[in-house]
Amino acid sequence: MNVGLISKFIIGTDPYLHPECKECSILPICWGGCPMDRFNNKFNRQNIDTCCRYKGKMEKFVLKYINKS
Ligand code: SF4
Repeated sequence: MNVGLISKFIIGTDPYLHPECKECSILPICWGGCPMDRFNNKFNRQNIDTCCRYKGKMEKFVLKYINKS
């Protein structure tokens, strides 16, 4: 077992330790997006958008849901 890698994955991808996520009203609904994407952004210098499609559009999605019901 690679304890270092597991620790990086668990702690390094925690959205509650990410400043943007901590301020985001979508948390915990999206839970910070895909953990693997977050891992790659942080440790493999990638720039993957982890935000869910609801960010900034929650009202629109809720209204659409209400009008469909
Ligand atoms: S929508 Fe984006 S900023 Fe907000 S909690 Fe999800 S990943 Fe973080």
